[in-house]
Amino acid sequence: MVDPTSDLEEDVDEESAPRCATCGEPALGADRRTVTWVDGDDAVHRNFCSEACRGEWTDERHSVGS
Ligand SMILES: [Zn+2]
Repeated sequence: MVDPTSDLEEDVDEESAPRCATCGEPALGADRRTVTWVDGDDAVHRNFCSEACRGEWTDERHSVGS
């Protein structure tokens, strides 16, 4: 069954939610932001509780040379 409104992982509770990489609060809900990049062979994810925390995050992605 596909519910088109359920793409925000509503089954995730605060205990199991990813933590905001800036403030450590659970990253949940509509304000959540996720940044994903590839570091070598690994996909790296950083979660944020809000756009503000995402903005405060020091981008740790390796610069990719061209
Ligand atoms: Zn936060």
